[in-house]
Amino acid sequence: MYAEVALAQGNFVYFLGDEFGWISPGCPVLVPFRNSTRMGIVVKVMATTTVEKVKSVKAALSEEPILGRGLISLSSIMAEYYGASQGKCIKLMLPPWVRERIKNGKPLVYESRVPDHRQAGKEPFEPKEQKLHPEVQNAISSHRFKTFLLFGEGRMDTYLASIECTLGEGREAIFLQSEIALTFGVVEKMRSKFGDCIAVLHSKLRQKERAILWEGIRRGNFGVCVGSMSAVFAPFPNLGLIIVDREDSDAYKAEQHPWHNVRDVAVMRAKIDKIPCILGSSTPSFESFYNAKRDKYELLHTGKTGRTLPVTIVDMHKEKTGALSRYLMKRTRETLDRGEKVVLFLPRKGYSQFCMCLDCGWIPYCPRCSVTLNYYKKGHKLKCHYCGYERPAPTMCENCGGIRFAYPGGGTERLEMTIKSAFRGARIIRMDKDILRTPAECERAYRDFKENGDILLGTQFVIRVPQPESVTLVGMISCDPILSFPDFRTSERVFSQIMKTKEMIKKGEIVLQTYNPQNPTFNYIKNDDYVSFYSEEFKKRRRFKLPPSSHLIRILSTSTEKEKAREFINGVAEELRKCGYQFLGASPCPIERIKGRWRYHILVKVSDPRKFFHNTSLPRAVSVEVDPRDMM
Ligand SMILES: [Zn+2]
Ligand SMILES: [Zn+2]
Repeated sequence: MYAEVALAQGNFVYFLGDEFGWISPGCPVLVPFRNSTRMGIVVKVMATTTVEKVKSVKAALSEEPILGRGLISLSSIMAEYYGASQGKCIKLMLPPWVRERIKNGKPLVYESRVPDHRQAGKEPFEPKEQKLHPEVQNAISSHRFKTFLLFGEGRMDTYLASIECTLGEGREAIFLQSEIALTFGVVEKMRSKFGDCIAVLHSKLRQKERAILWEGIRRGNFGVCVGSMSAVFAPFPNLGLIIVDREDSDAYKAEQHPWHNVRDVAVMRAKIDKIPCILGSSTPSFESFYNAKRDKYELLHTGKTGRTLPVTIVDMHKEKTGALSRYLMKRTRETLDRGEKVVLFLPRKGYSQFCMCLDCGWIPYCPRCSVTLNYYKKGHKLKCHYCGYERPAPTMCENCGGIRFAYPGGGTERLEMTIKSAFRGARIIRMDKDILRTPAECERAYRDFKENGDILLGTQFVIRVPQPESVTLVGMISCDPILSFPDFRTSERVFSQIMKTKEMIKKGEIVLQTYNPQNPTFNYIKNDDYVSFYSEEFKKRRRFKLPPSSHLIRILSTSTEKEKAREFINGVAEELRKCGYQFLGASPCPIERIKGRWRYHILVKVSDPRKFFHNTSLPRAVSVEVDPRDMM
């Protein structure tokens, strides 16, 4: 017998001696590879092979498969779609601690520590109220693959009802959330409804705790797994439903190879396991809405659309006062006087975007990246947001010897100072990555604001978490930096960000400050009109064959030598041209150099990434990303 074994480098065939006759797909084995021994996972067992000179499997590392057939198939589909090796995809499915234990031939966890919250023997869940859409219920009970796009606010009732229905069928459910901060509220709700059968996988867990939960899930000792990224791979033996809430969130996109999007992986997994998948959002991703429009997904409306919160747009050209317009100042003061709370959002941290010599205009750049250094008043220093490089702020211009400097463009640090002097006595809490590094610190700051704070100010984070009811004013100091990104998705991002902010507060007003009040996106936001916004944007994108009517594949070449990076990408471009592909580039990336490496890229427009990887062979030296979200 022979086994196909997935390693990080690719799949390889090995001979299975008689003593390994029992091995099946999903079993971890030790195999010789080049001059060393590696752990791999068997993905296929066959009677014959055409491969010559095969080596033998050295040892089996477990007496049974550690991954089920469904997950093995998923890794294979992911590998084809993302142009990665199957071994790399499997690696995502095994927590590091589990991998280490298996490699060293140790038991995964001690029996006594495996949690058991099985529903068996307990009363089965009887759906009490019939809140569930009949189509969803039907798909759950008939074990049918179907993707639903749940559109609108107030999605939780549908989620809970469908999980209840799944548990009633004796199956398990995965519930994915984009932010860990959102998870806690959801888990509370679920525990009160379903009891202790909820496993929560989040980034705060220690490796060992994660491994113990993982093993409990694998044995079917839980009914529901709630989590963010890795929870999509929860190894349930009898999975019946996957839910992805806020499916349009960029947080679902992996930040490293193979750069998968967890939302898309969820749909792939549901298809393999023949189960329904529910994607939910009040501002669906264009990709999902496109699929719903052409009946690939079924569109469901929650029936609850935006509680029309007033959005006020302030034209900053008419202001001379600095970061806060007169209108926002006035509203902030009124809100505080009523004893209510204010949230202020600014997309940038730090004090100023750069520092500039007033005599000759010299601006210090990061020596390793092609970006300006951000200025921090605290410590009077300059810092690179891409590589972390730091230096003292100059006291003398390195170009002309001048000593007068300006610090244009405001970040959260400067805003904090402005607000402190404008609203004396107000308790101000700042949240950004400069001062809050761990989730625990974030949670503490957030709780602090809930209990004692008056004004919360910060970057992305402050508009991603549900705010206490006493928040009645959200000021978006500036959306312009996001709008000016050289990326076709900027309007979509601004739209979804502001609409999500609307979801975060119960009542009150949103004030938006901008230098582009004419931008048509703002009108759609004011009118709560996702569908028209989508149609308008879609027309523009289709003209240029951009997603969602196509897929983009980004090919990136980097090198410490500029010439090398360019030559390499030009070679790839030549190949693509020969094959007749449509692409943008080859050109320098918007940020041409990061951490000392020059960067060139190509964006290929394809209808099916699988076909692209099947027909093209790319050099190993380039990195490839399917459906990129960030094109910097
Ligand atoms: Zn100068
Ligand atoms: Zn840098």
